[in-house]
Amino acid sequence: MTETPTTATPAPLRARAESALHACGVDDLPRDGDLPAATPIDGSVLFRLHSSTPDEVDAAIDDAAQAFAQWRQAPAPRRGALVRRLGELLAEHKADLATLVTIEAGKITSESLGEVQEMIDVCEFAVGLSRQLYGRTMTSERPGHRLMETWHPLGVVGVISAFNFPVAVWAWNAAVALVCGDPVVWKPSELTPLTALACDALIRRAAADTGAPDGVHRLLLGSGPVGERLVDDPRVALLSATGSVRMGRAVAPRVAARFGRCLLELGGNNAAVVAPSADLDLAVRAIVFAAAGTAGQRCTTLRRLIVHTSIADSVAERVAAAYRQLPVGDPFDDGVLVGPLIRERAWEAMTSALDRARAEGGALVCGGDRADRSGVYVSPAVVRMPAQTPVVCEETFAPILYVLTYDDLDEAIALHNAVPQGLSSAIFTLDQREAERFLAADGSDCGIANVNIGTSGAEIGGAFGGEKHTGGGRESGSDSWKAYMRRATNTVNYSDQLPLAQGVRFG
Ligand code: NAD
Repeated sequence: MTETPTTATPAPLRARAESALHACGVDDLPRDGDLPAATPIDGSVLFRLHSSTPDEVDAAIDDAAQAFAQWRQAPAPRRGALVRRLGELLAEHKADLATLVTIEAGKITSESLGEVQEMIDVCEFAVGLSRQLYGRTMTSERPGHRLMETWHPLGVVGVISAFNFPVAVWAWNAAVALVCGDPVVWKPSELTPLTALACDALIRRAAADTGAPDGVHRLLLGSGPVGERLVDDPRVALLSATGSVRMGRAVAPRVAARFGRCLLELGGNNAAVVAPSADLDLAVRAIVFAAAGTAGQRCTTLRRLIVHTSIADSVAERVAAAYRQLPVGDPFDDGVLVGPLIRERAWEAMTSALDRARAEGGALVCGGDRADRSGVYVSPAVVRMPAQTPVVCEETFAPILYVLTYDDLDEAIALHNAVPQGLSSAIFTLDQREAERFLAADGSDCGIANVNIGTSGAEIGGAFGGEKHTGGGRESGSDSWKAYMRRATNTVNYSDQLPLAQGVRFG
């Protein structure tokens, strides 16, 4: 492992967090609560916050439900003004928010800045959307009739988010929900409460600046049980939940039981096919970023490499050579490309998966070591596998890249699709037939399918999400807004006759 020395100590990290929070409008954090706000940079606890109580959860949902009565009547472009202001404040505090993302999630500065930029981008997108919530007009089969669809605000949107995108996922949901006329109640990961406090302060300021009802945004802090109260509350019209498949399995039936709407963004097990014609220089760069970037802690992280047998040895060796050069260390340090894992449990999951991979016939090519320092700093691993064994079919949220081989493209696609998750996928090829085959109906079964680009790093303009155990949700760009609104079909009779549809006669 190419390790850089640590420069961080708990005191400067706490001071840095305090200064960034203060700049965003958050002061006086408690140090005696039940919810530790820790940093993976050295594992230290910076603050001890308070989890939201059941009464506080109910009050937050109540505020949002009351705000809905007003907010749904505000014209959408006026709702857009709130999101425009939010985007301005996010841009003003980009560096502060990125600092907090690095402190809480351990991302390198460039990725943290990218995450904040994603929030700014989605605000811009949502502002445009606020003038484009179009319905359709259809031709009626009856004379003197007009048939159309209109879109209306849905109600309170509950957002549950994961630690690894502590703020971007909130913004994907909040910016779009708010222009759609829906107040938002957000429960971030219990591992990243500080970034959430900063965003909540900024959106409250944006609401005050633009005259939006104060209750359009509420923040809840805490772990699963706090989320469960949001999940079960019938006033929450849409529950948008991002996290593990395990969480989705717990949440989806509860929302369904009360006939609420669910938008699920769950785990991935993303693969890239590397064909013999691939531009290998480009492919190796893309593979290393997708597999080792963010220390393997993205939902879109590349976890399976399906390489043509004829080039498998050379691709595995080139990726391993690049891995051996990857600087692992303090994510604030210049030049570091791989920061820490979020916590001890992630290291346990990584070592357990590597042990299982060996037991299932795998051979470690490189990586899998842990640095002797505080915080969980690991060298990303490459493992050659004889087949797609059970461990390969699971998402281990750590930097492990399994390398499999194939002889013909049908076999590669079959292997690619033979896992329960369906989030992101890629093919590296210069053969147009192969590329199109991968994108076709019988190609990749994922929500995201790329050609000559890695599996991670999506833009906000497209709908984001995946199939199968990934949950089927779509967020962010394109027409994802439709999930946040209710559709009404309206038929207007402007004639003096009463013809019935399908030629039915009655009386
Ligand atoms: P996690 O499932 O442990 O937690 C996610 C969120 O769900 C947290 O806020 C947590 O408090 C909450 N939660 C957990 N159990 C709950 C319950 N029973 N009821 C209500 N809320 C509950 O996930 P994590 O470790 O924070 O994040 C990593 C996982 O998230 C990975 O599986 C990753 O692939 C996935 N992820 C998916 C996407 C996507 O868009 N598809 C994006 C980011 C992360």
